[in-house]
Amino acid sequence: MPNLTIIKVGGAIVENEASLNHLLNDFANIPAPKLLVHGGGRSATRFAERLGIKTQMIDGRRVTDTPMLEVVTMVYGGLVNKNIVAALQKRGINALGVTGADLNLILSQKRPIKNGIDYGWVGDVKSGNSATFAKLLNAGIVPVLAPLSHDGEGHILNTNADTIAAQTAIECATAGFNTSLIYCFEKDGVLADANDDSSVIPTIDFSKYLSLKADGIISGGMIPKLDNAFETLRAGVKRVIITNAANIATPDTGTVITL
Ligand code: ADP
Repeated sequence: MPNLTIIKVGGAIVENEASLNHLLNDFANIPAPKLLVHGGGRSATRFAERLGIKTQMIDGRRVTDTPMLEVVTMVYGGLVNKNIVAALQKRGINALGVTGADLNLILSQKRPIKNGIDYGWVGDVKSGNSATFAKLLNAGIVPVLAPLSHDGEGHILNTNADTIAAQTAIECATAGFNTSLIYCFEKDGVLADANDDSSVIPTIDFSKYLSLKADGIISGGMIPKLDNAFETLRAGVKRVIITNAANIATPDTGTVITL
């Protein structure tokens, strides 16, 4: 089974030139096959503002009405994605920038209105295209995925990048890759004290996760990230790590997630 590394990089890293360059240098050095999934929320908010489109968030999640869908499609699928592709090509990496609609890689369904909350054009992932991921990787291509999917009915859907990374990892594991998924962001891992970067929790299994969550130590964006992490492990992904984007060359210094 070939080893595959999937890196998911959050918005704060992608949108800072220095941290992005550092990450892409390290990513370029990871042996292929490999794949990158990126966010881009802050850029979308900035471009929306330039276009006079209001950003509305509910519980930290973006409401995607039609004008906002246009913005995220342009910013995630265009600007952010192609800048990363060009930066990887410069480093000799044969990157191919795609959304989940391209090659039918990630299929989702529009999130239904629940408790009166309508997120608009937001996708909940249904499935991914295992065979096509395998074809790309086996052809020596390095896919770079934007956080967009489609519903098979002609609509692009704004989709959480952590979830896209999780589904991609599951599809690649299903296709026979020995898959490692590395969620990287601006902190050194999952922290016992949010304000203390030296308080990295080295390993978290499912029961520890539940107690950390109950104690409020794990909160906000870390909850769906960890839910995704456990789902991928249950589906056959070999290794999941949450770490600083500056440390992907030594990911074990972050938090290792185990069942
Ligand atoms: P990204 O898009 O960069 O991946 P998210 O906002 O989805 O980031 O999730 C990471 C965020 O989770 C952190 O920026 C932090 O605010 C929050 N968080 C909550 N609990 C913790 C914790 N125990 N350790 C680290 N981060 C945490």
